[in-house]
Amino acid sequence: METVAIRTLDKNYFVKVGNGAMDGLAPFLKENFPALTSLLVITDETVGRLYLQELENRLEGQQLHVKVVPSGEEAKTFDVYYGCLSFALEKKLDRKSLILAFGGGAVGDLAGFVAATFMRGIPFIQIPTTILAHDSAVGGKVAINHPLGKNMIGAFHQPEAVFYDLRYLETLPQSERRSGFAEAIKHALIKDAEFYEWLLDNVTRLDAIQDSILEGLLVKGIRIKGDIVEKDEKELGVRAFLNFGHTLGHAIEGECGYGRITHGEAVLIGMLFALKLSKEILGLSFDSSGFRDWIEKLGYKSAIPEGVSADNLLQRMKQDKKSTGGKVMFVLLKETGSPVKMEISDELLLSRLNEFQRR
Ligand code: NAD
Ligand code: MG
Repeated sequence: METVAIRTLDKNYFVKVGNGAMDGLAPFLKENFPALTSLLVITDETVGRLYLQELENRLEGQQLHVKVVPSGEEAKTFDVYYGCLSFALEKKLDRKSLILAFGGGAVGDLAGFVAATFMRGIPFIQIPTTILAHDSAVGGKVAINHPLGKNMIGAFHQPEAVFYDLRYLETLPQSERRSGFAEAIKHALIKDAEFYEWLLDNVTRLDAIQDSILEGLLVKGIRIKGDIVEKDEKELGVRAFLNFGHTLGHAIEGECGYGRITHGEAVLIGMLFALKLSKEILGLSFDSSGFRDWIEKLGYKSAIPEGVSADNLLQRMKQDKKSTGGKVMFVLLKETGSPVKMEISDELLLSRLNEFQRR
């Protein structure tokens, strides 16, 4: 078990990571929220079916309400968000209530946004249940989607604490493991060349990562994310480096329709493309074919899915939050572990996207 401290201007909190991390939840509430009036658990159908009973047992004696939302990206709609707010009002939550976000990144983003906006903000705790959530549960970005763009409606709202019990990860489907692990690869590539080498050596399959290796890589990823958030909570500078792979990744996700490809799988293709641009523009020295072999062995796709047009991808990238004035910004690497943010012209992007697709 490890405890990682996260420091932001807004709040300091910890992330407890490991098998059994959840044993700390009830004592934490007792100690830090003695005047707690009620708890609202927001979870999705899948996680609820698997683990809600266990959570309820842990919180016996508390005034507990549970809102179950659809699994996956469907949780992050206006309708579901509105439903959560109505539920919270009906159950008479007040400013001394607390929300528990129990699930993957989708539930975390939704529940966090409910917490950020209900009565102008009430506290919440993240209880992540996916590998990806080592990224999403830390840093306080919370959001829902708009039909015109992912995560377009949101806030910065830091959790009170994060309890990351790795026992939950045992039931994760393979595609979700891949999705989450892509963000760990991202953390390594943007911040820590040694960590990247360590991943190459230690992670050769995703269905049976040894407990100690899994804990090690998640803790490392959380520290990297925490360091960046500490320096730049509101994404005015270095936090943007966390978007490595995401400029194209988000566009691919959007074009495929959320659901045909997972977030991490799309980001991984985005990272491959960003690595290619980094080699060409910044002279990055990087063994791309070794990287490609490794990720293909782990079951990732290394090409943009069939039928997705380069023009449409470009249009999506121009509309993205990360671009300003219609200029597309990319995070590239000078070296492994040292990112820069750069504007890439439409012409260059189109031509390289077309090449990348033909490969
Ligand atoms: P998710 O919450 O949709 O979970 C993926 C799937 O796994 C869902 O179907 C879910 O029901 C299921 N699941 C969750 N835990 C499980 C478990 N223990 N066993 C079996 N099944 C389980 O998605 P995710 O991949 O965790 O996160 C993706 C979301 O996170 C996206 O919406 C993305 O925008 C967001 N995100 C946010 C941030 C941030 O900083 N806020 C960062 C990265 C990603
Ligand atoms: Mg991401």
